[in-house]
Amino acid sequence: MTHTESDVAALRAHVDELFPAVQADLEALVRIPSVSASAFDPAHVETSAKAVATLLRDAGMPEVQILRSERPDGEPGAPAVVARRPAPEGAPTVLLYAHHDVQPPGDPATWDTEPFEPVQRGERLFGRGAADDKAGVMAHVGALRALAALGEEPGVGVTVFVEGEEEAGSPSFSRFLADHHELLAADVIVVADSTNWKVGVPALTTSLRGLVDGVVSVDVLDHAVHSGMFGGPVLDANLLLARLLATLHDDAGNVAVEGLTSAAEPDVDYAEADFRADSSVLDGVELAGEGTIAGRMWTKPAVAVIGVDATDVAHASNTLAPRAAAKLSVRIPPGLAPQAAEDALQAHLTAHAPFGARVTWTPGEQGKAFGAPDDSEAMRAARSAFAAAWGTDPVDIGVGGSIPFIADLLEAFPEAAVLVTGVEDPDSRAHGANESVHLGELRKVLVAEALLLRGLAAR
Ligand SMILES: [Zn+2]
Repeated sequence: MTHTESDVAALRAHVDELFPAVQADLEALVRIPSVSASAFDPAHVETSAKAVATLLRDAGMPEVQILRSERPDGEPGAPAVVARRPAPEGAPTVLLYAHHDVQPPGDPATWDTEPFEPVQRGERLFGRGAADDKAGVMAHVGALRALAALGEEPGVGVTVFVEGEEEAGSPSFSRFLADHHELLAADVIVVADSTNWKVGVPALTTSLRGLVDGVVSVDVLDHAVHSGMFGGPVLDANLLLARLLATLHDDAGNVAVEGLTSAAEPDVDYAEADFRADSSVLDGVELAGEGTIAGRMWTKPAVAVIGVDATDVAHASNTLAPRAAAKLSVRIPPGLAPQAAEDALQAHLTAHAPFGARVTWTPGEQGKAFGAPDDSEAMRAARSAFAAAWGTDPVDIGVGGSIPFIADLLEAFPEAAVLVTGVEDPDSRAHGANESVHLGELRKVLVAEALLLRGLAAR
C-alpha cells in the first residue's frame, strides 16, 4: 500500500499534537527502576507492569491483563501485560511486542545524569530504559493513540504484548507462549526492540546472530607442583589454555573453527571510523578479520573469551597450575543451527588439545539466529510505512547480538511474519551508561507504526 502525502501529513500533525503526552508518559516509565535482574527488587517490575496496563487501557484497548507463567526453576516469571482488540471479520491480527523491564544501571558514576531520572538534552531523552525498551512500549501506545485521535479503529486485530523479563533472558517466555498461545496468536509480529540505521535513516532488522556458550577446561596435572622442581618438561595449565584459545582465530583474526560458517555479506557497511568510535577501540589497535565490518558483526561467527578461571595474580605462588578454564561465547550467523555450531566448536577444541592435555567442554546456553525472508507482504507494508514516515527508504540491517525470544516466537507461531523494528539509533547506548532516545526519531516511529497498521489492514 502506498500512503498518500496528505494522509501522512494528517497523521504527522496528530502525532505532533499528542507527542508531549507520549514523552511525559515515557518519562514516568523511566522513573520506575524496573530492573529484572535477580539481585534487584522485583516490586518495581510489578509497578511498571501496572503502569503499562493503564497506558494500554487509556489508549483504548478493550481487554488488558497482567499475566505470568512459571519459569523452568518453578519460580513465577515476571509480569507481562497483554492487551487485545479482536480482529474485524476477515482481517489479520498484529502482535506488537516490547518489554517494560530494563538492564541494571551499572556504575552511577559513569552516568552524566541520574539513570532513573529522565533528562532531556537537545533532541535526546536520557535515562535507563528511555530507549530499550520503554520507548518501544510508547511506540505501540502512541501509534494506537494517533489512530484513535483520527477517529480510526485499527483495521486489524491488535494484541500488545509487553514482557517483563527480557533483560533477564526471558526465562518464562516459552512457557508463557504455550500457556497463552491462543491469546497471542497473530499473523504479523512486530518486535519493537531493535535499532534504526542512523538518525534520519530507518531500518528493518533482517538478521540476528544466535549464541552458543560454554566452558572449556584444560587439565594437565593431578595436583599443583613446584615450578622450579618440575617446570620445563611440562607446561602449566594456564599456558596450555592460552595455546588452545589461540587456535580459535587465524593470524588475520578470522574465526578458524571449521564448521562455523558465515551467511551472505550484508547490503550496507559500517564505516571503520564509526566502528572505532562506537566500540571505543584504542588508537593503533588493528581490527580483526576480513570482509566488510558489517559482515564481521552480523553475518560471520565471532568467538570471545568472556571469563577465565586461572590462579589470580594476588595468589600466585611458584607452582605449575594443574587446571585452567575459560568461558567462551560464540555468536553464530543466520543459517547455522546452535547445536551444529557447538559440535564444531567442541570438535575443534578436542582436536587442538595442546600437548595432549585433557580438554573438556561443558555446554552452556544456546540461542537460535534469525534471518528474515528477503520479501513478504508484511515486509513490503513495513518498508512502505517507514519510507513514508521518514521520507527515505529503510535499509536492511543485521544485529550482532541475539534476541533469543524471537526464535521462541517463530517456533510457537511458525506461520507468522516477524518484523524486527525499533526506536534506537547508534548513539542510544542501550545497556550502557547515558542511554537515550532521539525524540525526533520516536515521533517518526509513531507515524510509521500507525501507517504500518493501516497498511496491514489494507492487504
Ligand atoms: Zn530490549
